[in-house]
Amino acid sequence: MTREHLAESIPKLSVVIPAYNEDANIAQLYVELKQVLTEMDMSWEIIFADDGSTDSSWDTITSLHEKDKRVKGVRLSRNFGHQYALFAGLSQARGKAVVSMDADLQHPPQLIPELVKKWREGHQIVHTVRIDPDGISLFKKTTSRLYYRIFSFCSGVRIEPGMADFRLLDREVLDRILQFREAGLFLRGIVQWVGYSSSTVTFQSATRFSGSSHYSIKKMLSFGWDGISSFSIIPLRFATLIGFLTSGLAFSGIVYAFYSKFISGTAIPGWASSMAILSFLLGVLFILIGLIGEYIGRILIEVMQRPRYLIWEKIGTDSHSTIGLK
Ligand code: UDP
Ligand code: MG
Repeated sequence: MTREHLAESIPKLSVVIPAYNEDANIAQLYVELKQVLTEMDMSWEIIFADDGSTDSSWDTITSLHEKDKRVKGVRLSRNFGHQYALFAGLSQARGKAVVSMDADLQHPPQLIPELVKKWREGHQIVHTVRIDPDGISLFKKTTSRLYYRIFSFCSGVRIEPGMADFRLLDREVLDRILQFREAGLFLRGIVQWVGYSSSTVTFQSATRFSGSSHYSIKKMLSFGWDGISSFSIIPLRFATLIGFLTSGLAFSGIVYAFYSKFISGTAIPGWASSMAILSFLLGVLFILIGLIGEYIGRILIEVMQRPRYLIWEKIGTDSHSTIGLK
């Protein structure tokens, strides 16, 4: 293949979509994407990253590829989680600009021309911020808002609530991000951390086209903790601070006990109060040990240097990367 041929076959825009049991959404998303993308004056590819789906998502992706070679796919060997599927898809993308979005049509394909416009104006990262639809639960709204406050406080990296993994990355930024080797991937944080020139576009979120969210409370909590613990050691410092405060409290309690026994002469109050202090201190101690344990657990996972995901099959992509290592 000559150089010109190669340049021609590299699409200008890649759209990367992680999908886990999204069979009912993939075909519809493809139709909408195709409509939007063909109206734009650039060559494109769509890469689905099948995150170990147990429905017929992969068959749908392969049959789309049969009809339209611009549809490509990677299939992970099992369900590794949204962030890893996204990363696997990104590792296969070849476009000069790469858009990532969800498969469930909550991220409107119609916004892509606006993202590309901002990119052409010179922004290397174009974020999107979701304006929540009325249907979204108050619980999800307030917890996500609170979480990003705490995240920003701990890490010094600002993430606006409503920022999701729907964004455009320039090739240069993507290449840098693909070099990140941490096991606890938190792309939202990484994309903020790298800097570069960025811009933000807001959009009205739709409700899921088909199926229900794959994020259970448990998954959300673990995702949230991954985010904070991979970006900040402030929780550990906070632990030390609590340690000092409670020891100070306990120490003044002891001083008071001596005072009341030997100086003021009043008897030490019954053992109930000392037991209360004791158990309180023990409680704090266990929390601190647990917190330190969490970080040590993270260190263990990082030290093992396991691949972050395994690619089982690929269609239409020619990248050599098949495991989550560079
Ligand atoms: N997803 C994935 N692996 C998972 C869970 C989700 O690839 O283990 C994909 C899913 O198919 C969707 C995107 O990640 O394209 C966002 O997931 P979901 O819609 O369930 O999350 P929510 O929109 O509720 O935050
Ligand atoms: Mg969704």
